[in-house]
Amino acid sequence: MHYQGSCQCGQVAFDVEGEIDSGLACNCSMCSRRASLLWFVPRDKLVLRTPESAQATYKFNKHVIEHHFCPTCGIAPFSEATHPKTGMPTVAVNVRCLPDIDLETLNVQKVDGASF
Ligand SMILES: [Zn+2]
Repeated sequence: MHYQGSCQCGQVAFDVEGEIDSGLACNCSMCSRRASLLWFVPRDKLVLRTPESAQATYKFNKHVIEHHFCPTCGIAPFSEATHPKTGMPTVAVNVRCLPDIDLETLNVQKVDGASF
């Protein structure tokens, strides 16, 4: 499946390819505040449609994940990091930023990110 995603104002926009089987609801100090629902895909499945310079980046804790967000509207559509198990560049897409996803029917799985 092909999805288009963006922040709210459109300054950060992207295309992403893959099958969404569920959204992960993480309880870490960031995700619980953002209410993000995460979907992990290989980095090469995501293609930015806007310049990399259009997004700002935040890091915390071990500083290994780049949490990108739009400096204009503040929405954070995805983060990127090296996958700890596979060693592959990976993105965590916030499926709430994919307008074609029906959040009412999405299978939501809880992840205890607070204890990672
Ligand atoms: Zn924006």
